[in-house]
Amino acid sequence: MHNRVNIIGAGLGGLSAGIRLAKLGFDVSIYEKNEKTGGKMNELVYDSWRFDTGPSLLTMPFIVDDLFEFAGRKREDYLKFEKVDPVCRYFFAEGSRLDVHEETDRMVEELNRFNSLELSNYFHFLAYSKKLYDNAGTIFLRTPIHEWSQWIGSLTLSDIAKLTGIDALHTMHKSISRFFKDKRLIQLFDRYATYSGSNPYTSPATLNMIPYVETGLGAYYISGGMYRLTEALEKIALEFDVKIHTNTEVAKIIHKDKKVRAIVVNNELIETDYAVCNADVVTAYNDLIDSADALRRKYNKLEPSLSGLVFFWGVNKKHSELKHHNIFFSADYKKEFNELFMDKKPASDPTVYIAITSKTDGSHAPEYGENWFVLINMPYLKGHEKWTEIIDQTRESIFKRLKTSGIDIRRNIEFEKVHTPLTFSELYASNRGSIYGISSNSRFTTFLRPANRSRDIKGLYFAGGSAHPGGGIPLVIQSGRFAAELINRDHQKIKSGANTILQNKQRKAAVYA
Ligand SMILES: Cc1cc2nc3c(=O)[nH]c(=O)nc-3n(C[C@H](O)[C@H](O)[C@H](O)COP(=O)(O)OP(=O)(O)OC[C@H]3O[C@@H](n4cnc5c(N)ncnc54)[C@H](O)[C@@H]3O)c2cc1C
Repeated sequence: MHNRVNIIGAGLGGLSAGIRLAKLGFDVSIYEKNEKTGGKMNELVYDSWRFDTGPSLLTMPFIVDDLFEFAGRKREDYLKFEKVDPVCRYFFAEGSRLDVHEETDRMVEELNRFNSLELSNYFHFLAYSKKLYDNAGTIFLRTPIHEWSQWIGSLTLSDIAKLTGIDALHTMHKSISRFFKDKRLIQLFDRYATYSGSNPYTSPATLNMIPYVETGLGAYYISGGMYRLTEALEKIALEFDVKIHTNTEVAKIIHKDKKVRAIVVNNELIETDYAVCNADVVTAYNDLIDSADALRRKYNKLEPSLSGLVFFWGVNKKHSELKHHNIFFSADYKKEFNELFMDKKPASDPTVYIAITSKTDGSHAPEYGENWFVLINMPYLKGHEKWTEIIDQTRESIFKRLKTSGIDIRRNIEFEKVHTPLTFSELYASNRGSIYGISSNSRFTTFLRPANRSRDIKGLYFAGGSAHPGGGIPLVIQSGRFAAELINRDHQKIKSGANTILQNKQRKAAVYA
């Protein structure tokens, strides 16, 4: 009985699955098409400027800690998680601004300044958000929900009761609007839909648990840059003898008689007992897996999440009015999402997110400047977009939006690099450039999202943002865990089946001897 596992992709999902499987005794190899591991969680260094290319915010750090613990490591020996305060500074189109703090006293003070009439509503909303997390979040994060027998079996009576309280029938926006009169606070909480690349006007209100996840469970930055997490996971994987092959693209996943057999790398067939696909599931069914038409059609019908346009700007000026995380809201949020999801075109007045890690880590920019990571939501790729035009228009929109808050950096950009949805598609092979896999725009997405174990090919598993439970650092790390646990369980079953056959044969042989 062999235990070879080949993993396609060294993103966080692939590394998470690889570490767990190696710890469980499997013989693990990871193949990564890019030069470096980490996928979307990567790093860009140019002269004295340093940028994270993907995540800027870590939530649910206990999921990362859990992986380290499983590997017998202390996370503190590798990484320092830091809280940033305020969690975020929000600038509204009419000129006002609000800092969101985790600490209740500071938040009360800030809301009293901003709009004291909404003070109690704010905390009622957070209590509702926590309830959603307690009712739904813990259950969906705990198990690979497509494994019905395992899932249903693991539910307690109180879990089942809780599932009736997950506000799945309203949209996020509708439920948020029940709490607040102030349109600015509605816009602020609507934005959490974009944490899964989704539309607050259509996504189920269950996603309103995210504000609690951020402000209640904590929002963190990783000292030295978010990329330090990728480095730490790669180090642990290597310590467990995981063989990591970078600059090595997997061309095909070979299956026969409904069982995975091999992967193809550099025109060579590498036999495998199990395969974990960390590459986007839709891309995998389109390009890597032949003769699986039914699932290919099904997965291509699912709506991808938002993509993004990222400007990495070395700004040769300091801005005391900006914090580590900053949002500049558009004037008409509904219009922005209609343009992104209905018209599938860049927003005419986009909301602007700016993360500046040099506010916390001075070494990420020269002394005179700041490293700006500027993220603008973009629709997923349709094809034939004119990126040079879109980049120029978006840059102008950003300047215009910042100007309304008195910030002008038009002549202060010393360094610029841009990632478009095409970059995400080409660099990470993500389906239509989506950042978070499948969008959560329908109330059934949780169940429609690809499972962690292939439905049609035995021995094939999925770990990553396009599989259950979805995109974002903690969820993707959790999907690696689900894939590893399923492989281990299936392997033990096969082993005990093989042992029983062997014992029966030995018994028969003894009878006839
Ligand atoms: C701009 C941006 C901002 C974000 N902000 C946040 C944030 O603040 N907080 C947060 O939690 N999350 C954030 N995310 C999301 C988060 O980065 C992702 O959900 C997560 O990193 C995805 O990990 P993954 O393992 O699913 O896939 P990926 O990171 O996409 O990794 C997949 C890997 O597979 C490789 N691969 C694909 N095909 C092949 C092949 N055929 N052969 C070999 N290798 C292959 C790719 O090269 C890639 O390295 C952000 C993402 C982006 C892009």
